[in-house]
Amino acid sequence: MQSSFKIGNIMDIPIKLDTSFLLALPISAYFFAINSQPYGFVGVEPTVVRYTLSTLSAIFLFVSVLLHELAHSYLAKRYGANISSITLLLFGGVASMEIPQKPGQEAKIAFAGPLTSLIIGFICLFTYNYVISSSSALSQNPIYLIIWVLGSMNLVLGIFNLLPAFPMDGGRILRSLFARKMSYVKATHSAASIGKFIAILMAIYGIYIGDIWFPLIAFYIYGSASNEDRFYSELDRSV
Ligand SMILES: [Zn+2]
Repeated sequence: MQSSFKIGNIMDIPIKLDTSFLLALPISAYFFAINSQPYGFVGVEPTVVRYTLSTLSAIFLFVSVLLHELAHSYLAKRYGANISSITLLLFGGVASMEIPQKPGQEAKIAFAGPLTSLIIGFICLFTYNYVISSSSALSQNPIYLIIWVLGSMNLVLGIFNLLPAFPMDGGRILRSLFARKMSYVKATHSAASIGKFIAILMAIYGIYIGDIWFPLIAFYIYGSASNEDRFYSELDRSV
């Protein structure tokens, strides 16, 4: 069974939707419908308006994720790396590309994504706070809440991706910094170890405050760090 399908091309890069993405839209829309501002639309009545705003926000969120991936891809292309595709998945997106030879380039490519998310986040929050909120006509209309929700989500996306742990961009930035001083395999191992340590701290924190999401995300981060480490050390042995 095909696990992804192509929806178009941007900058000559095939844009694909993973089949898990079909679940992502309703899950994200539901998340926005049951969370309060600035992460959702609880309190907006009638229900049909709340769910319409939530669905629109879910679509815009994935457009934001696509822009994040395109920022990585744009810079990677400029450095001459091949990008085979961008795929949108249940949680976020992946740009499949060659890893550039120069560690400094990998760091810049990795940083371009979160930087784009932070810029979109700040522009949305600035617009909401200084344009929408200050006008009584605009602030009465719940449709503009989408700008606030999108701003907050893009900030979360940017900050979360800067965590120095695989598979987040922060993990790649860290690896490329290490790779200036050591081999790529050793740099991956060191970055993965830091990622695992952060995952353990995150799990302990989650258990301490009684929030199940932290241990779940920590488990995912720990697994990703192990995979990345194993992948490169096996690659090293096979060369
Ligand atoms: Zn990214």
